Amino acid sequence: MAQSWINLAYLIASALFILGLQGLTSPRTARNGNLIGALGMLVAIVATLVDRKIISFELIALGIGVGALLGVVAAIRVQMTAMPEMVAILNGFGGAASALVAATAVLAPEMIPDVPPLQLYGSSAASSLIGAVTLTGSLVAFLKLAGWLNWNPRGGAYQMLSGGSALVALALSVWYTADPSRLELFWALTAVSAIYGVLFTASVGGADMPVVIALLNSLSGLAASATGFVLNNNVLIIAGSLVGASGFILTAIMCKAMNRSLWDVLSGDLGEAGAAGPSADDVYAGRIKSAGPDEIAMLFDVATKVAIVPGYGMAVAQAQHAVRDLANLLESRGIEVVYGIHPVAGRMPGHMNVLLAEADVPYDKLLDMDTINPMFPEIDVAIVLGANDVVNPSARDQKGSPIYGMPILNVDKARTVVVVKRSLSPGFAGIPNPLFANDNTLMYFADGKEAVRALTHAVKEL
Ligand code: NDP
Repeated sequence: MAQSWINLAYLIASALFILGLQGLTSPRTARNGNLIGALGMLVAIVATLVDRKIISFELIALGIGVGALLGVVAAIRVQMTAMPEMVAILNGFGGAASALVAATAVLAPEMIPDVPPLQLYGSSAASSLIGAVTLTGSLVAFLKLAGWLNWNPRGGAYQMLSGGSALVALALSVWYTADPSRLELFWALTAVSAIYGVLFTASVGGADMPVVIALLNSLSGLAASATGFVLNNNVLIIAGSLVGASGFILTAIMCKAMNRSLWDVLSGDLGEAGAAGPSADDVYAGRIKSAGPDEIAMLFDVATKVAIVPGYGMAVAQAQHAVRDLANLLESRGIEVVYGIHPVAGRMPGHMNVLLAEADVPYDKLLDMDTINPMFPEIDVAIVLGANDVVNPSARDQKGSPIYGMPILNVDKARTVVVVKRSLSPGFAGIPNPLFANDNTLMYFADGKEAVRALTHAVKEL
């Protein structure tokens, strides 16, 4: 087909990607945005299959079949709570795909004759470097998130090793680009990049993991973009750049939400957090007041404003439908109900929004941190449902805490706080939470879904 038609198809696909991204900026339009983006991908794939001198359509069909099968099985089987691990591994596969294409290109450059040598070898080196970092970095992120790897190397020597491997990988890329006849340089740069991927992710502390996942997502896009230059494929360059840029913007937003600089995240620098904080006994001993559903239900007798603050525990308990039922009941009694959503509540960006949208909670009731924080002094009852780190006042008050400086939802300013969780176990950051011992806090120890159902029942009985 004439090249101009192919380019037109790529232009349409790119426009659809951008429109799709625009749709994804609001939950209301996200579903359509997703479909528009997928349509763009279909146009891009069809145009590429028509354009390129395909050696074997059978092989491609086999790849699509195997990939689709694995994707469908994973999508059905993976629990919502394990989504971050799934995203991590998918980023890794994206990086691996780019590195594999780059390796094929340098092994058989005669297959892409229309690409000038400097572009071919330079972008292959970049694609392999970024792709290998993304692959091994994502694998380490996956293992850490799944709890299978507990390795947090730190210190000057480690940072020198890590920084040194990045510099060596860069130097090898430049050397290989200058002298592409030396294929061993290409394999060496790929291997050193893979080692750097492990080192740079291993030092990242648990609570910083979401930032790294967003960054790896961005890197997988950059690797794809570099691969676009290897193949002279415009739509791959544009799509990769969009992923790279949006992943980086997300990284910046998440850094801000956790009050961490990207450098501190990557170097594993916890600031003053090395200092041991107070033990759980120091914080909780003799200060915890627990209550059951009947006692808590009585609070709603006089309440006019209630805030529900969900966290990871709501996802584990799958309590979102029960929460909506309780909110509907309270609203039918004239109580105003809002939701406080922290940007890193749960285990992935937007985790709470997705779950509450699934339960048909209206979007305008989901208030972000900046909107709800000034409202807390007017809130009669704040129900903290399976959230812990994102409501931990140590982040605000206790210099030296591993989460010091992370903006939190100030639920402790509400008149009464009800914390629903199963025990006094810590959250993701692994530290005690002084909120639980506050005078205005009642602990309701139970599974999130059962607790909310029992509470709804008790409110009905009032
Ligand atoms: P946390 O991980 O701080 O706390 C979750 C709490 O939920 C636990 O204390 C647990 O207590 C409770 N819980 C678990 N299961 C249940 C259940 N079935 N019913 C009721 N409660 C339950 O969650 P937050 O949402 O407050 O904070 C998120 C943390 O995760 C932050 O540190 C963030 O940095 C990190 N993170 C966030 C990511 C993101 O992108 N959103 C990605 C990766 C990490 P108990 O066991 O006693 O019930």
